[in-house]
Amino acid sequence: MQGKLILVGTPIGNLGDFSPRGVAALGECDFIAAEDTRVSVKLLNHFGIKKPLLSYYEHNRIRRGEEIRQRILSGETCVLVSDAGMPVISDPGEELVAECARCGIEVSVVPGPNAAVSALAISGLRGGRFTFEGFLSMNKKSRRAHLESLVSEQRTMIFYEAPHKLRATLADLLGALGERNIAIVRELTKLHEEAIRTTLGKAVERYAEENPKGEIVLIVEGAEVVEAPEFTLEEAVQLALEYTEQGLTVSEAARKAAHTSGIKKSDIYKELISEREE
Ligand code: SAM
Repeated sequence: MQGKLILVGTPIGNLGDFSPRGVAALGECDFIAAEDTRVSVKLLNHFGIKKPLLSYYEHNRIRRGEEIRQRILSGETCVLVSDAGMPVISDPGEELVAECARCGIEVSVVPGPNAAVSALAISGLRGGRFTFEGFLSMNKKSRRAHLESLVSEQRTMIFYEAPHKLRATLADLLGALGERNIAIVRELTKLHEEAIRTTLGKAVERYAEENPKGEIVLIVEGAEVVEAPEFTLEEAVQLALEYTEQGLTVSEAARKAAHTSGIKKSDIYKELISEREE
């Protein structure tokens, strides 16, 4: 009988957050695949767990992924952990999950802390709809393209950032998105946990002076929802008439006016034809 893969979320600072199910999964598995075995061994020692550890990270993921799958197929149960928080979320694991699923291996999860969602929860910004953007690229072109793609994003946006890159990232966010509310959430679940609720402009000023420390999540307010002006059928027909005067055919003018006004093209078209006949 084949084994299975279990993703286990681990604390993002405070070891008291590790769930009893997480401890049990580590204690009962056959082996643990860890992003950095030196980090995970500290967690295991704290909970008095002794299990074989195998490193699984960005640069060995193909070879190691294959080895892990073979061991699971031959009956072993593997727990995957990252250094902190949920595996896969800006951490290794997504290919392993996809490949295991493709091979028909059961994949389950013991949910644990996650910095993105925890920061959103205390940000004071809208939590109903949000997007997780991870780390912005350091490559200028892809960084610019990523930021441009977010200009009209109306959902709250979540970014991960390292302290030494915060200043540049705040400036780039302000440049691309304009003034917005932001929460800078630091050191979640640790001694110096802090949430600074401010605006992008004020944050840029603040960090021109101050050097941020620790682990950081940025929660950025989405773009303002601009209500499209409401058109009556009469106004839409008037608009279409103007388009015909500019040289568009009746059909083209009705389509363009429908696009602008949100009113059905066939309704505008019908009115246009009857006005022309009168
Ligand atoms: N898999 C993790 C998770 O579920 O949150 C994220 C791993 S990612 C490599 C590391 C980034 O997460 C850090 O650079 C920081 O942006 C954020 N992070 C992790 N722990 C944090 C904490 N205690 N407080 C604030 N941000 C944290």
